[in-house]
Amino acid sequence: MNPSSPVTFASLSLAAPIQRALSDKGYVNPSPIQARAIPALLEGRDMIGIAQTGTGKTAAFALPLLHRLSARPTTRVPRQPRALILTPTRELAVQIADNLAVYGRHLSLRHTLVFGGVGEQPQIRSLAAGVDIVVATPGRLLDLMNNRHISLERIEAFVLDEADRMLDMGFAPDVKRVLAKLPARRQSLLFSATMPETIRQLAQSFLHDPVRVEVAPVSSTAERIDQRVCHVPRGSKRAALLHLLREHGKEGLSLVFVRMKHGADRVVRQLAQDGIRAAAIHGNKSQGARQRALEAFRSGECRVLVATDIAARGINVKGISLVINFDLPNEPEAYVHRIGRTARAGADGIAISLCDETERAFLRDIQRLIRRDVPVMALPNLPTVSVEAESEARPRHPRGRNGSPNGGRPRHGGGAGHNGGGRRGGNQSRGNQRRSDEARSEGTQATPAAPKSRLLGRLTRWAGRN
Ligand code: AMP
Repeated sequence: MNPSSPVTFASLSLAAPIQRALSDKGYVNPSPIQARAIPALLEGRDMIGIAQTGTGKTAAFALPLLHRLSARPTTRVPRQPRALILTPTRELAVQIADNLAVYGRHLSLRHTLVFGGVGEQPQIRSLAAGVDIVVATPGRLLDLMNNRHISLERIEAFVLDEADRMLDMGFAPDVKRVLAKLPARRQSLLFSATMPETIRQLAQSFLHDPVRVEVAPVSSTAERIDQRVCHVPRGSKRAALLHLLREHGKEGLSLVFVRMKHGADRVVRQLAQDGIRAAAIHGNKSQGARQRALEAFRSGECRVLVATDIAARGINVKGISLVINFDLPNEPEAYVHRIGRTARAGADGIAISLCDETERAFLRDIQRLIRRDVPVMALPNLPTVSVEAESEARPRHPRGRNGSPNGGRPRHGGGAGHNGGGRRGGNQSRGNQRRSDEARSEGTQATPAAPKSRLLGRLTRWAGRN
């Protein structure tokens, strides 16, 4: 994101403690979406925002929300928050909570996180103690609503974030159940990277005379990023990945995208065999494992992260200089989202896609969406492993979808009033359900058995020569 707007935060009528938090953070100019959204939201308008992560949309809704709540302080009522932010993934929820902690550090508002995959009790306790803002994913929120641990009757402001992703993940019925419990008088916001008919209808169902703010349409976000495509046979992808990480991944952090979660685990294992330490994040990993992988990546302790689209949704890590699409996504929007993980906050980045013979149609769809051709990058001669050999390496006895251990502690924002999170144990049925939802979207094949040693030997020998 490149906040190039001449407007300054100082010229927006945000409360002084919020202004102070912004200058602590070194933010002077609002990003385009912030410059347009904040004044309208401060007037109390409903909003439909067409923007994706990387544009500064979190602050665009979080700053006016904090302003609104702090301008009219009320006594906290147990289990009855004043604002609800609904978001599709736990990573995104944690990230939003972190932002609230940063921007609200000089205010006395409290927020908490509500999401599945971790124990309910700490979340129940936070709600009972009374919070102003809840950041939630839909499944766990509904569980807690059904068991009367939270009521939405005092909600003054509601944000539906990443609405398109929410519907893609099958959360439409859950979202409707939440909407049905909101009081009639409230401010409502919807953010979505795309605006298909389903989202338009959803927006109409709960927004009142919304202001429409649109920034960086999906096709133009990609413009700053140096994009390349390498046409490689499927059997050469492993060698190609190794080559690219060695050639282009030396400086910063590298993020590798795969389509299926079993593919993520396999790539991590293969990289380890090739001497590169990598971590995987996908829908079958417990929340704790995901957070640990993200932390290791963020800190630079592990410089390669292999991710599926869904798990990557909330990744907002500075210093990603290389994105590699090990598999091309079958949804062209996912490509733009993936490559947007690099070149964040004005930095430059390179995104390289490996396209095999079966993925040409995906590439065509992507090029149509971004309205340009992705330049082709040549690779040195790579050893090719026949597709048969690859498929021999695939699993013969897929494990269950939820085979990974559960639980774990989410990362805490550390800012004032952040009391969300949870720990192992508790009723995790919804968490498991959520992970199955993610697992479905990432494909359901389980972790493969170890690849054939002959195949490995050839690749390792090749890698050693290069
Ligand atoms: P988001 O689109 O909300 O995920 O934000 C993308 C990144 O831009 C995050 O790292 C934010 O902390 C950062 N950011 C948001 N607003 C600004 C701003 N006005 N100036 C500089 N950086 C910002």
